[in-house]
Amino acid sequence: MKLFSPSEKQDSLDVLNYHIKVCTRCGLSATRKHALTGEGNIGAGLLFVALSPGAKEDAQNRMFIGPSGQVFNNLLHKAGIERKSVFMTNLVKCILPRNRKPVPTEIESCSAFLEDEIAIIQPRVLVPLGYYATNAIIAKYHPDSSGQEMIFKNINGRLLDLGEIKIFPLTHPSALLYNPSFEASTLESYKKLKSLL
Ligand code: SF4
Repeated sequence: MKLFSPSEKQDSLDVLNYHIKVCTRCGLSATRKHALTGEGNIGAGLLFVALSPGAKEDAQNRMFIGPSGQVFNNLLHKAGIERKSVFMTNLVKCILPRNRKPVPTEIESCSAFLEDEIAIIQPRVLVPLGYYATNAIIAKYHPDSSGQEMIFKNINGRLLDLGEIKIFPLTHPSALLYNPSFEASTLESYKKLKSLL
């Protein structure tokens, strides 16, 4: 794996972000205001991967500033992880109309951008948030997996060494908006993640 200096990382991200911002590879380009690029500390040990921008993120072109972002900030704070120390991005860079689920072609169209972000940031631990980001990352880095052992509910909150990369899947913060009872167990997982650093 090629190692990047901080300036090389920033230069590579700037080029990648330009391509994301003008991307029209899938139909979501027609309904977005902004294609969101990753945001945060380019030297981060943790790279969080959410699903897609929400309405506020799409309008203001910033990661995790809407209701899910408030939940995310709260979990990070309670676990003792500084938001400015991590890097955040989305599996699908453009907003999904009416919060619908992504279709496979949208994930496939966008996944090369995520792979490039991972290659540039080179996190110690990749943290997919929720079912879709976890599935996409398992499919990429552990393509031979099948059956129950790698489905999201069985690996949520567990550190997995996939050889090329370590991943630690977590519940997506938006799930806590609908199911506040998930907070206690999710916070325990965030604390476990912090203890790994
Ligand atoms: S979702 Fe991804 S692939 Fe589709 S238009 Fe946006 S940036 Fe391009």
